Amino acid sequence: MAEISEIICVTCPKGCTLRVKHEGKQVLEVLDGCKRGEEYAICELQDPRRMVASTVRVDGGLHPLVPVYTKKAFPKHLIPDLARALRNVEIPAPVKINQVVLPNALGTGIDVVASRDMPKVAA
Ligand code: SF4
Repeated sequence: MAEISEIICVTCPKGCTLRVKHEGKQVLEVLDGCKRGEEYAICELQDPRRMVASTVRVDGGLHPLVPVYTKKAFPKHLIPDLARALRNVEIPAPVKINQVVLPNALGTGIDVVASRDMPKVAA
């Protein structure tokens, strides 16, 4: 049976509330917003994803942690598992910006990369 759910679109700063008519995960109609909002609502219902930012440990770095992020939006239901996996990652210094620190995270095909350089600490 069709139902209507409300989804807040975060694609642009307007933050429209979209009413989505759907049967389970099958979207029948997006009643508000623009074309981008419609795409967002369909994705949010069928395969919600988020960009993930975190840190991983660096061995011998100027700082003990380096910030990292997912190269693409990551499946939302796997984010807790990704956080656990990143807690077990330690990479040697120096680290270069965009260096892959966790390839193909959890078999998703999405790499986690460093978002800044982390030089080696001077001996
Ligand atoms: S529906 Fe369109 S206008 Fe509204 S927040 Fe989403 S992208 Fe922006």
